[in-house]
Amino acid sequence: MFNLTNIVRKHLIDLEPYSSARDDFQGEAKIFLDANENALGSVGDQLLNRYPDPYQQKIKAELAKQKGLNHDQIFLGNGSDEGIDLLIRAFCEPGCDNILIFPPTYGMYKVSANIHNVAIHKVPLTEEFLLDEPSLFKTIDKHTKIIFFCNPNNPTGNLLQKEVMLKVLQHFNGIVVIDEAYIDFSPSHSFLKFIEDYPNLVILQTFSKAWGLAALRLGMAFAHREIIKILNKIKPPYNINELTQKEALHVLSQVAKKDSFVDKILSEKSILVQQLSNIKLILKIFPSATNFILVKVNEPEKVYDYLVAKEIVVRNRSTVQHCGGCLRITVGSKQENEMLINALKKY
Ligand SMILES: *Cc1c(COP(=O)(O)O)cnc(C)c1O
Repeated sequence: MFNLTNIVRKHLIDLEPYSSARDDFQGEAKIFLDANENALGSVGDQLLNRYPDPYQQKIKAELAKQKGLNHDQIFLGNGSDEGIDLLIRAFCEPGCDNILIFPPTYGMYKVSANIHNVAIHKVPLTEEFLLDEPSLFKTIDKHTKIIFFCNPNNPTGNLLQKEVMLKVLQHFNGIVVIDEAYIDFSPSHSFLKFIEDYPNLVILQTFSKAWGLAALRLGMAFAHREIIKILNKIKPPYNINELTQKEALHVLSQVAKKDSFVDKILSEKSILVQQLSNIKLILKIFPSATNFILVKVNEPEKVYDYLVAKEIVVRNRSTVQHCGGCLRITVGSKQENEMLINALKKY
């Protein structure tokens, strides 16, 4: 049975979190002399003299409505990367516990675990970039605390097997993270609908991709309220700055614009796939549920350098497991994609 108190690091159970001025007094008042802020104003054109809401309540209220959740099932971080870091801090004892990842996958799980001296157990995806279910279950041991699924996966672009992930959610007594950074490009595959069913499920989403707000640094984690409570306890008190909070609230009223970006990117993607399939240099185009395409070529370094010389930068993933010869291409604007195709045609 999954029991959160068995999973969370022991010293955090009774940890006294930092109590900010905004924690000690919540409510309306005329005069705030409690946080050593500058009451005269701010240097610069924007009024930023007050500390921001440590729990981002306005954004969470709006997200709760849009996602069909309660506000206490939502955590916001300085990018999803903060969520990844805090999850490892919360559940993995350095030098003792381990996380499970499925390479080739997103690099931050490993980097975060390494920063915290937490061991990384790897179960490579199959040649088709799918989960190897028997190896997965064999590799779990009593010190495995977090399993990171990236769905759709980066850098491969495909979806992982839903049934395998559900089985892990049912049988694994640790935390199961499903990183849905690219889910806006294949929304029907989100695990958000399972959030009430599994107290060990954490879903990560981000404003960095479909929303076009990579510079804002805002990531979301959705989970059972007890997990969210732990993340809130250990996060830096004011982790989401006021400018980010204001902008997030503003963009959440424009979901239609995000959706139209997604539509455009997806239609550009199918044109790009079509064009790439006519280029001899491209040996293989992997199926993509995201805003990028993984392709295979014979001489990845040469093709990469050739494109850089034409001022086009793609991601060379050829040294990554099962990705020999692979380049990862983000779908750009119509014009950018055409320039890429023209350059590849001339290679
Ligand atoms: C881009 C990406 C993220 C986003 O990270 P942010 O810190 O929110 O910008 C998370 N996970 C994966 C798999 C990604 O590719």
